[in-house]
Amino acid sequence: MRFDTVIIGGGLAGLTAGICLQKAGQDCAIVSTGQNALHFFSGSFESLEEAPARLAGIFEEAGIRLHYQPGVRLMPMGTFRPAALSLEDVDILPDPAFSRKALIVSIAGYQDFFAAFLAEGLEKQGTQCRIHFLQLPEMAQLMMSPSEMRSVQIARTMDRMWEKVVGEIKVLLQDEDTVILPQVFGLQDTTVPGRIRQAVPARVIFAGTLPPSVPGIRTQQQLKRRYEVLGGTYLAGDEVIQAHVHDGVVHSVATRNLDSHYLEARHFILATGGYFSKGLRSNPFRIYEPVFGLDVDASEDRNAWYDAAFAADQPYLKFGVRTDPGLRALRDGVAFENLYAVGSLLGATRPELGSGAGLAIRSAFQATDQILRRSAPQEDGRPAGQSGESNPSES
Ligand SMILES: Cc1cc2nc3c(=O)[nH]c(=O)nc-3n(C[C@H](O)[C@H](O)[C@H](O)COP(=O)(O)OP(=O)(O)OC[C@H]3O[C@@H](n4cnc5c(N)ncnc54)[C@H](O)[C@@H]3O)c2cc1C
Repeated sequence: MRFDTVIIGGGLAGLTAGICLQKAGQDCAIVSTGQNALHFFSGSFESLEEAPARLAGIFEEAGIRLHYQPGVRLMPMGTFRPAALSLEDVDILPDPAFSRKALIVSIAGYQDFFAAFLAEGLEKQGTQCRIHFLQLPEMAQLMMSPSEMRSVQIARTMDRMWEKVVGEIKVLLQDEDTVILPQVFGLQDTTVPGRIRQAVPARVIFAGTLPPSVPGIRTQQQLKRRYEVLGGTYLAGDEVIQAHVHDGVVHSVATRNLDSHYLEARHFILATGGYFSKGLRSNPFRIYEPVFGLDVDASEDRNAWYDAAFAADQPYLKFGVRTDPGLRALRDGVAFENLYAVGSLLGATRPELGSGAGLAIRSAFQATDQILRRSAPQEDGRPAGQSGESNPSES
């Protein structure tokens, strides 16, 4: 199977790259093993001060609405963290003392939303809290098995019965100025959070739950759908296990499910994430990148990998794959001709690209720009950038 670009990893970085390339007329394949960091996403985009016009355009076309408002975000455990660019249904508050009196509404049997911790945290800020657990007969089936009472299962039901929840809140509401609900609304129907806000006669805040994150899963689904509408191929649940490289050029990759049907392409993007997604792995002796054996910027001294103070900035989180200025990945100090590394796989090796979601998006833009520039025909009709100046050895 032959594509213009094969992207390994379908998280925020891989999907952003895939959408950009499909929009530019390329034919791409994304191979992605499983969950990615978006499934745990808070809904706020780290290191992006404002939505760059290009990002805003891509997200808007995917149906993802953003808002920019520097302030603080209420965390699942009742603490606050600075945030700015966020999904529309993620509330950014001017300061932690935003409310005089709040009603925290949860659902009986739902254990992934910590109403008591939220109340404790808010009370420290001077907010008086009252907690209520809704008894919903519609949840009886899910409650038969506690493992089913998770955010995503509840969110599927809530898309259908949010009006009933609003009705109950209206009866419960006394003199509270704020209602706090778990982030389990709007998984499929993105208009639901806004409609709840309009219908409830108090400020409504959707607070984070334990993972999986409903807004994060929705964002991943919207980006994936947009990529597929643009004609991209998405191979879910498959894993790239081997690369075929000759003279510093990647020719194809093999996946677990496709046997000897290799994925060939002119360009490859590695967007396999950090340790969490197994883009970087470690054993007692080294930290390594498993698909291509790329150079990793990491200390050889294992004692320097971590700081014994648990809450300190941990050095291992800064380790990442080395690249040339154009994000082409290095092996033995030499850049591959057609392999780009993007996203959290880079660790903190490219501080100018930011961190978190900002790094994922900026690096995806930069790599796709390089690919498109190098794919543009030269005067002699051949694609640009086939100079062959670099040559990591065959694998
Ligand atoms: C738990 C968690 C929560 C986070 N929350 C936030 C947040 O709220 N805000 C923020 O700004 N940043 C957050 N981050 C930082 C996050 O890393 C980035 O925001 C961004 O989503 C990372 O995207 P990515 O595409 O680089 O990697 P990932 O999202 O990790 O995606 C990598 C994908 O590659 C796949 N993969 C790996 N190896 C292979 C292979 N060999 N073949 C095929 N597929 C493969 C994985 O299965 C995964 O799907 C969080 C990170 C983590 C770990």
